[in-house]
Amino acid sequence: MKSLTRRTALKQMGIAGSGLALAPSLFATDRLPEDRKLGVALVGLGNYATIMLGPALKETQHCYLAGLVTGTPAKADKWAKEYNVPQKNIYNYETFDQIADNDEIDIIYIVLPNFMHAEYTIRAAEAGKHVICEKPMALTSAECEEMIAACKKADRILSIGYRLQYERHHQEVMRLGQNKVHGPIHLIESGLAYRVRRPGIWRLDKEKGGGGAIMDLGVYCIQAARYTTGKEPISVTAQAYTYDSEWFKDIHETVMWQMEFPGGTIAHAVTSYSTYVDRHFVSAEKGWFECQPSFNGRGTSGRTHEGPMDLPQVSQQATQMDDVASSIKEKRSPLVTGEEGLTDLRLIEAILSAADNGRKVML
Ligand code: NAD
Repeated sequence: MKSLTRRTALKQMGIAGSGLALAPSLFATDRLPEDRKLGVALVGLGNYATIMLGPALKETQHCYLAGLVTGTPAKADKWAKEYNVPQKNIYNYETFDQIADNDEIDIIYIVLPNFMHAEYTIRAAEAGKHVICEKPMALTSAECEEMIAACKKADRILSIGYRLQYERHHQEVMRLGQNKVHGPIHLIESGLAYRVRRPGIWRLDKEKGGGGAIMDLGVYCIQAARYTTGKEPISVTAQAYTYDSEWFKDIHETVMWQMEFPGGTIAHAVTSYSTYVDRHFVSAEKGWFECQPSFNGRGTSGRTHEGPMDLPQVSQQATQMDDVASSIKEKRSPLVTGEEGLTDLRLIEAILSAADNGRKVML
């Protein structure tokens, strides 16, 4: 995949979005970044770090893989060889806080199971490092607030791994939706679901994953409804279903929900750990646009009622990490801030409350 620079990408798509509101000022400066590439330490060398983030760090222009945090020495050796990471920049979960003394590491990227996000984000900020934390930001909105406060106190940037805000088709969806190119939006239908059945997996454990598919996958649909409309929902209704009680003891197997936006847009979404869905469809007054496949990390395809969106695939993760690194050098906010993650956690809490109580929740 060929990666585009942030400026080129934003120029080509004709917007410089802040994700939710179109805010050209964020990327409109011509300030030149420092020469030095910033050092990123990945914390947790599991699937996402291995398949996506490591390879993306070979493409980044403003940062590179400088450090590793892992509890598995064999993984540390393998990664150190492949990415040329010196032994002194390799930590485990006991020595993590010593990163404070390492000037080669500027950004700590938390790629751990959800229940560890808050603790490691706060410890990273206390070590004086900027933080990128994977989605969902944390298990609760209260944890998100603590993470934001810790980064503010340490005067460090906090960003969330919402890679799709850097993906060209999703940026086009933001442009079409927020600018009402095909008229006001009346209906959004989104879904992200895949089948998960593995003994011992943290995603199926409420204490570790935070509540199943809605936390893991549904959060993409919440994000997409917000950045398609550029608005915040005013109410939610929701329904939850569990048929496979052998695997789903204290989390919902499938959740469907509806978000009502000011002006009359209704977003209907579904997430599940039992079936396969990956689409984002938007119906406007004079036409429609959609991404399918939409949210997965391997590639998005988009079209409108007029035909295919002819857009390149970019490395979302490389563009995302480069934006965070540039934002640090340029002393500005990254495209995705911690507040984005907090807003989504508050919405997840409202959706689960609506599903559990069978009542509309006003926001
Ligand atoms: P994973 O299970 O493959 O990796 C988790 C890593 O954490 C493993 O290396 C594991 O050894 C380590 N770990 C350390 N302490 C642990 C503990 N106490 N229990 C369990 N694991 C522990 O998970 P993943 O799929 O890489 O997901 C990691 C994070 O990244 C999650 O928050 C997930 O939501 C997020 N993610 C984001 C995307 C995206 O597209 N942005 C994609 C996949 C995953």
